Amino acid sequence: MIKVANRDFTRAVNQFNILNRIREAGRISRVEIAEQTGQSRASVTNITAAMIEQGLIREEQSGDKPSRGRRRIMLALNPDAAFVVGVKISELQVSFAVVDFIGDVKSSLIMPIRVSERSEEIVADFIEDGVRHCVKDAKLNMEDIAGCGVAVSGFVDSASGTCLWTPLKEGQSLIRQLLAERLNMDVFLENDANSVTVAAQWFGQGKGVDDFLVVTMEHGVGMGIVVNGNMYRGHNGIGAEFGHVVMVPDGEPCRCGKNGCIESYVSDGAILRRSRAFLSRRRGEKPDLDQLTIEDVTAMAKNGDAGLKKIFREAGTILGQGISGLIQIFNPQKVIIMGEGVRAGDLVYAPMRRAVKKFVNAELYEATEILLQEWHDDDWARGAAGFVLSELYKSPLDCIRRAK
Ligand SMILES: [Zn+2]
Repeated sequence: MIKVANRDFTRAVNQFNILNRIREAGRISRVEIAEQTGQSRASVTNITAAMIEQGLIREEQSGDKPSRGRRRIMLALNPDAAFVVGVKISELQVSFAVVDFIGDVKSSLIMPIRVSERSEEIVADFIEDGVRHCVKDAKLNMEDIAGCGVAVSGFVDSASGTCLWTPLKEGQSLIRQLLAERLNMDVFLENDANSVTVAAQWFGQGKGVDDFLVVTMEHGVGMGIVVNGNMYRGHNGIGAEFGHVVMVPDGEPCRCGKNGCIESYVSDGAILRRSRAFLSRRRGEKPDLDQLTIEDVTAMAKNGDAGLKKIFREAGTILGQGISGLIQIFNPQKVIIMGEGVRAGDLVYAPMRRAVKKFVNAELYEATEILLQEWHDDDWARGAAGFVLSELYKSPLDCIRRAK
């Protein structure tokens, strides 16, 4: 009996390695898989035949024509092998995305709702409607969806799927259970920064990179850490709270209760709050401060308002100081900055780069690539979906619930 179990286990591991190789390569031949995974050609042929039969991968002709003989047969993931849905819950909106097996978005949706002012039951009803709508938009049925990922900011214990703290709600959240009942599928709850980090690792700029950091910029400043190819979650499984590292002793008040945190200078909310305070002190004509948005302030600074530019510049310098510390500690291959805050462009990121160059030792600086990732409205939801996909890839292949 044990022997059989071992054989099954070995096969599952081999399958996982092959699937991973195909995912990372995009397209790859059987011979290359055998070389790169150390498995025998017979084993690769055997396992990939079963995967083709299951509809997880498919054969494609290689694009480049060899000097003689036939085009090589390559293997690629079948995008239609499975579909998942991702949901990101923010303070004033919920966004949705249905993605396929290779992480491409099939449909997406953003619905405004004041989440913190509604009960969790109402939020769950609302999300159920959004998911059903989005699935229909992708021309799929609910039965075609293999799972749902939900991303929130705050302290999430992803192993148990419980949310220990979120700015959206006081006390422990039951949103995962409420959604699992309504959607009748597996629902995964994860911290938003961690889920976009997993998505980057599996489908984005972190593909094939063993050590990288993600810094997310929106209402808060979040972070994901990948070390030796694994997500680092810390002792409590809560993960990195980069936004609440104190940079300025007795500085600006932060919503976490401390003063001078990175977030209290760098987040959208902080920049908006500081801009309002600045404009309210200014004489002469000024915009309606109550109606002022982060987009307005960004546009005014880009148009040359020197006082507002200074607020962005300070944000960039403090962010750069924080990232310098991370680079000194982790020696990452890449630091990927993403999120709505990326829209500020050079206003924040030119001073950030100057600060990093100044504060990081030259050798480390040279070895680190800092990337600003262009941001799309559905990227948070896509990240939440990516987290479910990564779980799917790790599960035994015959457990993947395939679309019919
Ligand atoms: Zn704080």
